[in-house]
Amino acid sequence: TLVEPQSSGIGGGAFMLHLDAASGKLSSYDGRETAPRGARPGMFLDGGEPMKFMQAATGGTAVGVPGAVRMLELAHARHGRLPWKRLFEPAIELAERGFAMSPRLARLLARERVLRATPAAKGVYYTKEGETKPAGSLILNSALAKTLRAIADVGADAFYRGAVAGGIVETVQRAPSHPGTLGYADLAAYRAIERAPVCRPYRKWKVCGMGPPSSGGLAVAQTLAMLERFDLAALKPISPEAVHLIAEAEALAFADRDAYVADADFVPVPIDGMLAPDYLAARAALIDPKRAGPKREPGRPAGSEAALAPEPGGDKGLSTTHFAIVDGAGNAVSMTSSIETVFGSRLMTGGFILNNQLTDFSFRPSVDGRPVANSVAPAKRPRSSMAPTIVLDGHGRLVMAVGSPGGSRIIGFVVKALVAALDWNLPLQQAVDLPNFLSRNGGAELEDGAFDPGLKAALEARSHTVKTFALQSGLHAVRVVPGGLEGGADKRREGVVLAE
Ligand code: GLU
Repeated sequence: TLVEPQSSGIGGGAFMLHLDAASGKLSSYDGRETAPRGARPGMFLDGGEPMKFMQAATGGTAVGVPGAVRMLELAHARHGRLPWKRLFEPAIELAERGFAMSPRLARLLARERVLRATPAAKGVYYTKEGETKPAGSLILNSALAKTLRAIADVGADAFYRGAVAGGIVETVQRAPSHPGTLGYADLAAYRAIERAPVCRPYRKWKVCGMGPPSSGGLAVAQTLAMLERFDLAALKPISPEAVHLIAEAEALAFADRDAYVADADFVPVPIDGMLAPDYLAARAALIDPKRAGPKREPGRPAGSEAALAPEPGGDKGLSTTHFAIVDGAGNAVSMTSSIETVFGSRLMTGGFILNNQLTDFSFRPSVDGRPVANSVAPAKRPRSSMAPTIVLDGHGRLVMAVGSPGGSRIIGFVVKALVAALDWNLPLQQAVDLPNFLSRNGGAELEDGAFDPGLKAALEARSHTVKTFALQSGLHAVRVVPGGLEGGADKRREGVVLAE
């Protein structure tokens, strides 16, 4: 919230996986934002057409009820060791004494137009004249210190009721563009949810991720299951053969994701059908090792609703944060949190920025008369791509924890890191550094300037349509190695590996 306000924080949501080393229990927590009761299926349409992304994202309509604080409270109640209050002290101190603005934050603030004009942000990130403070400037955020102190003293109720809640409601309902309906009752009704993690064997490991409303765990699991048919360990890292197979498996997984994954409390998501070995074997059989397939149609896993129209969505990805932590007792946390796009809704209250997570819903309630699973509904959670992941060995012991920001590209970033670490056995930092490549069922995407030019030609020879992008992942991972731990943090952002 404080030092990476562009990415995540208490104004947004999160998903967290937790491994308890003593019992071997893996829990997953859903702190995803919910749509307020006043949300309506057509709220991101303008004259019947989907709004432009920034039009929908900026202002009050896109703000979902923030879930991070309730989720952290729930996870702390279940697994915490230190008193709740103490956890906030370092952030409060840093907010009051100031922190040095990072180059990335300075760069993103410099190109930001809307946040710059809001009085709350002006006081913190910009000079009185409205100029961006340079990287290295001391940033103080006393409003945030006050909010954090209230949460530290009272608990999450200090966020969901009272003065902080009042600030959220006022800011959303009086937003200069697209005022939203989010009200006190929406905040008071918010619940974080413990859900069953999505776990599936992958070769000699077991890979666990976040289930719906995130599509992350299912898409990673399906991709890996299809790749089991191929001996990836025998292929050179990022060779054309390997990139081809991984991209093809991802395209098939994305076709299912786009059609079937949404908030499972509102629409039946065929989780078991999507992970059934026979179904995945049949999907994997569609992969031709020599040639890219066409744009993939969703399959028909058991329990799936044929009438649903696929809706891609979620292709931004400059914000969001992931961290992976292992403590001295071997307990692990893999957590991805987000306010959605960079600086979220551009609305600020209580020293924090409010999310625009509701733009992760499909803007269109239906396509050609066919309903969309991820349409907007009151109290529903928008589909995510966040993929916090924990890998276990055959005895249920921790192997690694990993995850990334990156919008719907998160899935491809995480698959790359998993294959690099597990199949190619690369040191974790190298696994993170490896050039990014992926498919979201719309052609192969390669990280700009990171690959040997021969790769593009080799993929085109296999009839891939290839596009190159910056592909700014923010992978963070920890792996258990003989005698200790190994970390990997993405240099594409400002990640670090730390130990104490
Ligand atoms: N809102 C996205 C999601 O939940 C994450 C956005 C990002 O990574 O930048 O999938």
